[in-house]
Amino acid sequence: MSTSMHCWRGIILLGGPGSGKGTQATLLAQKLGVAHISTGDLFRQNIKLETPLGKLAKAYIEKGELVPDDVTVSLVQERLKRPDCANGFILDGFPRTIAQADALNRVLADMQLSLTAVLNLRVAPEVLVDRLSRRWTCKSCGAVFPEFSLPPRAGCKKDICDGELYQRPDDRPETQRHRIEVYHEQTAPLEAYYAARGLLIQIDGEGSIESVHQRIIEAVRCKD
Ligand code: AMP
Repeated sequence: MSTSMHCWRGIILLGGPGSGKGTQATLLAQKLGVAHISTGDLFRQNIKLETPLGKLAKAYIEKGELVPDDVTVSLVQERLKRPDCANGFILDGFPRTIAQADALNRVLADMQLSLTAVLNLRVAPEVLVDRLSRRWTCKSCGAVFPEFSLPPRAGCKKDICDGELYQRPDDRPETQRHRIEVYHEQTAPLEAYYAARGLLIQIDGEGSIESVHQRIIEAVRCKD
């Protein structure tokens, strides 16, 4: 790894539900030594702990709708102040609307920071639906297992975890299509938004996890 991989970076990963954002954000955050901030994971943790935020978010998430912007922006604003963001961050699942992107600009400007790059993971719609219907998640550690077409019999095998695997309620077929529609209506316009600011990099999100990771590393290296 070159030493240039350690400079400060603020990166956004855009992509539809099932595009591999979470998997790729985890790998990239490890590689760059920056914080991985997934708004979906933050909401799911709050739902599990039954916090007031979790109760509010649950109603939206289970319908495949977006959680309101003000709530989501405050959550991210607080998260960006944590010490693990000192070397930078990968935002996974945020922003999802133009209003969130405008708010993020203001939050970063207040912190005297600016974005390094916005990576858009491009995956064909039929591949997204197929991936979502085969995705199982660990109830304990949140690890994602993309390979099952039927409910898996064994539990989570990530590290020493033995958590129960479940299909996220919002990954079920009836909700999936709605999430993809919401993505096209509310989130896809962010591509033009960030392209106009010279930050957008298109990444082919199809193929193996490792090959997509390599494409992302190359793209990020070019921003040095
Ligand atoms: P994800 O894990 O990124 O697929 O997010 C799961 C769900 O959490 C989404 O379908 C939304 O309901 C909610 N969510 C996550 N991030 C955001 C966001 N930036 N704005 C609004 N809702 C969000």
